[in-house]
Amino acid sequence: MTLHNLGFPRIGRRRELKFALEQYWRGEITQAQLLTQAAQLRRTHWQWQADAGIELLPVGDFAYYDQVLTLSATLGALPARHLQGEVTLDTLFRVARGRAPTGKPAAAAEMTKYFNTNYHYLVPELSAGQTFSICWQQLFDEVQEAQALGHQVKPVLLGPVTFLHLAKTVGEPFDKLTLLPQLLQAYQQLLARFAALGVTWVQLDEPALALELNSAWQQAYVQAYDTLQTAQVKLLLASYYGSVAHHQSLISALPVAGLHLDLVTAPAQLPLFANALQPGQVLSAGVINGRNVWAAELDQLAQTLAPYARQLGERLWLAPSCSLLHTPVDLDVETELAESLKSRLAFARQKLTELQELQLLLQTPDCAKAQEITLRCIRRREQQAAAADVAVTARLAGLSEQDFQRHNVFAKRQPLQQARLQLPLLPTTTIGSFPQTAVIRQLRNRWRGGELSHEEYTRQLQQITKDTIERQLKLGLDVLVHGEAERNDMVEYFGEQLTGIGFTRYGWVQSYGSRCVKPPLIYGDVSRPQPMTLEWAEYAQSLTDKPVKGMLTGPVTILHWSFVREDVPRETIAYQLGLAIRDEVADLQQAGISIIQIDEPAFREGLPLKQCDWAEYLRWAVAAFRLSASVARDDTQIHTHMCYSEFNDTIEAIAAMDADVITIETSRSHMELLDVFEAFAYPNEIGPGVYDIHSPNIPSEEEMVALMTLAAKRIPLGQLWVNPDCGLKTRRWEEVEPALQHMVSAARELRRRLG
Ligand code: GLN
Ligand code: ZN
Repeated sequence: MTLHNLGFPRIGRRRELKFALEQYWRGEITQAQLLTQAAQLRRTHWQWQADAGIELLPVGDFAYYDQVLTLSATLGALPARHLQGEVTLDTLFRVARGRAPTGKPAAAAEMTKYFNTNYHYLVPELSAGQTFSICWQQLFDEVQEAQALGHQVKPVLLGPVTFLHLAKTVGEPFDKLTLLPQLLQAYQQLLARFAALGVTWVQLDEPALALELNSAWQQAYVQAYDTLQTAQVKLLLASYYGSVAHHQSLISALPVAGLHLDLVTAPAQLPLFANALQPGQVLSAGVINGRNVWAAELDQLAQTLAPYARQLGERLWLAPSCSLLHTPVDLDVETELAESLKSRLAFARQKLTELQELQLLLQTPDCAKAQEITLRCIRRREQQAAAADVAVTARLAGLSEQDFQRHNVFAKRQPLQQARLQLPLLPTTTIGSFPQTAVIRQLRNRWRGGELSHEEYTRQLQQITKDTIERQLKLGLDVLVHGEAERNDMVEYFGEQLTGIGFTRYGWVQSYGSRCVKPPLIYGDVSRPQPMTLEWAEYAQSLTDKPVKGMLTGPVTILHWSFVREDVPRETIAYQLGLAIRDEVADLQQAGISIIQIDEPAFREGLPLKQCDWAEYLRWAVAAFRLSASVARDDTQIHTHMCYSEFNDTIEAIAAMDADVITIETSRSHMELLDVFEAFAYPNEIGPGVYDIHSPNIPSEEEMVALMTLAAKRIPLGQLWVNPDCGLKTRRWEEVEPALQHMVSAARELRRRLG
């Protein structure tokens, strides 16, 4: 029973790669120093894997920026604007970070989310008549590097069909699939190079198989693997992130030496594929979750796998469900974590040990060590069950339809809100945060480090909040915000105050390039022991007669940006979070706050890979939001915010959230994204962002007037708000103030022209 791994996080358990990269980009270390640091990390990571009994070590999982970018470079498919002579490491960085060889800015390659993960890859750009040839040797160098260290390796790279699927076309529009034959030739060369290095197995990742594919793309798989079967290496075709059962007959017929399945997201695939294996074909069971941090139920897994182990013998391999890229590196460095939580966790390194233990459970189920493992799993589940918060469960069980509904429909609420708020036509507001200045960051660091007392920290933040309110009053905005100076991160701030949510010290996961996130851990039943934002909201509101929005993060966003327990359905946790936020809404309302914004920037991210699963997700996600908002009285105005506006396929669900006002991103697309509102009459109020906060540019009054005029063609004037795209925390006051000045005068001009 071979143990193998699909990929190990490269960032380092202390984020060594991140720091080395950033130092290199700032010119503080040489390229040789960066390369040495990277080689050291690879060496350590391979050694850890070998020590855990992993027989085929992944190579190709390491990348200086992104593994898809490395592959584009390998295939000679980098954008021309970043090229000059031979491809070097700096070429890769130019593509990723937006520089031309001359040092002048040249648009970076587009970056987007990798399937349904929080990892972002650089989108390959392909043009009609594109050719491919091997232009970057990193993969081969790393194979030799691992071999020199005495390891047996398995190169891991994206398969040709998924590579094409992820790419975008540039220039003349054309069908990407026409490039497949050319691309396959390059893959053949790649595989031949691996064979020449003495490699036996190569893993080709084809996560696109988890999508719903039309027949042309299905056919592409047949063509691709027919062509590649002549290679002198054995191919392991890997799918993950979702079930591929809908393509079972296609996949089972492909001439590959092995199949890897993600049996964590889709355990039901196992019998389906096991029964259709070709003679001699290997089945790699991805049973250890590569996307989450919880310890595996090894005893239960062993039970499920035992019949297959008997049936397949040597042909059953064990692996994580997908690359461990999406998990933190090493639990051992978490010395401050409560043992009750720590014992429930497994990070990348621990997951490898789990594989080894699973192997032991399957091979020698009666040995003392196996019994100890089983006992450990049973105890852990018992402890977990005992830790349940019955009050939370009971409250959830007692929910009724009514709890998910505002008292009256929007048409009745709107006049009541208007009577209370007295807002002008086209009211102006912002999304919540104002510049997080160096002063604010220093204050927070000194407070966290114990240098600054809580009282002093609060006093200084109040001063900043007061200044933020005064600036907004001076600008003449209609609905104000307190500025979120006290928040480091919109999920962490709430997570730290909720019961059932924990934090690690080093639980970093790569998001893109050198950027990492440290998601909270939702480990237990969630509740809100006391108000979380009330004091700040009350303080800010005490400074002005204009409405100041109470600012909350929504349940769906907290859920998506956390590592979430798996012993209860996500829907249940969404409702627990919904109730916690609902309690906060109730308190804010009670304190006289008239507008409350519940941000849901991650709402769309949660959409499942397959469209056929969307309705089910949207059902509970909408319900969780409504649960959080429905305690609001008719005259309390509920806002929500989403940082995108691709609503074509979800607009009905967005409308069903029934927020009184939604603010969205639209300025970058010149309101094109509002086309959806031509076909669908959005019932409530909406603020299509007119100020692109992602850019340092200061938009002029005219630009914003033009954008709003476009919006007014599709949405009735009385429903429109004027606001930026997103929060302003990453901008500087010198940019924000003039931009908002223009925005306020644009609104005034529009009222004159259209009102
Ligand atoms: N209220 C948050 C802010 O203004 C919203 C952030 C977001 O949309 N991601 O920063
Ligand atoms: Zn946003």
